[in-house]
Amino acid sequence: MRIGLLASNPDLPSNQRIMEAGEERGHRIRFYDVRQCYIKLDAEHPEIHYRGGRLLNGLDAVIPRIRPDLTFYGCALVRQFENLGIYSLNSAAAISHSRDKLHSLQHLLQQGLPIPTTGFADSPLDSDDLIDMVNGAPLVVKLLEGPQRRGVVLAESKTAAESLINAFKSLQANLLVQEYVKEADGKSLRLLVVDNKVACAVERQALPGQFRSNKQHGTSIVAARISSEERRIAIKAAKSMGLRVAGVDIIRARKGPLLLEVSSSPSLDDMEDVCGKDLAGALISAIEKQLGWKRRLASPIGTSDASSNLTQ
Ligand code: ADP
Repeated sequence: MRIGLLASNPDLPSNQRIMEAGEERGHRIRFYDVRQCYIKLDAEHPEIHYRGGRLLNGLDAVIPRIRPDLTFYGCALVRQFENLGIYSLNSAAAISHSRDKLHSLQHLLQQGLPIPTTGFADSPLDSDDLIDMVNGAPLVVKLLEGPQRRGVVLAESKTAAESLINAFKSLQANLLVQEYVKEADGKSLRLLVVDNKVACAVERQALPGQFRSNKQHGTSIVAARISSEERRIAIKAAKSMGLRVAGVDIIRARKGPLLLEVSSSPSLDDMEDVCGKDLAGALISAIEKQLGWKRRLASPIGTSDASSNLTQ
């Protein structure tokens, strides 16, 4: 198959692994910088070009790995591929849905999935009540917008929470307040879901004295044993958001597992190192399966492929 990896940095280890996995499986896979692609909307001759004018209409599938700050352009591009009948591993609609944190949390709740109690307000006049709504301090304040990462801050006391909320509000920032899951003790789970299966599960531990355990904060990661409930909610979250590939973040609270976030471009290399599985290969297998592509087997039937590496 001819596969395009739509991303921004060819040197990122996850992107390199996807390129390797595509080639290992005998596909012609190319890296395309999202911002160097451009599109022609036309009833008769819709097109997608790459820097210098190369036509990309002949691809069979694309793997979108859109940076948060390129969501608008990246999703327009992915939509154009879809409109041309080119399969995208994650759809533009699912990617843009997952990028709206508040909308995602509302959606997960609608699906009957558990999230930490969360408050959202426009006016700064009722910060006091907003804090009470999430059971008071300590609480977590999450900025919804930002050029790169969205800020996540812990407010230890009610006074700190009030000043934080009011300061952000005076800057016209949209923010969520969320109950702080103290008992998680700086740990969270990351489950990689591919094609409605949990391909790998890891536990991330924040640096000492920190509470944020996502990748950017110098966390340590180890393989995790997950419960059937954790598996169930991760698969349902990814499926209900229409993501065929998703990184689902779960925090273990006293009342049970709670969903924090569902990411459409999960990193793969760190999880592969921990799980010892070919996760990039699992992405390629998902495309092969979707497009009904049969690999020419060099070895006898029954030998393993990437999909058999998936844990159920
Ligand atoms: P980001 O969008 O920056 O990834 P997250 O909502 O995933 O933000 O939060 C980052 C990290 O902060 C999580 O991995 C988790 O360790 C910690 N965290 C987030 N929300 C809570 C919470 N309600 N209680 C305790 N820790 C939290």
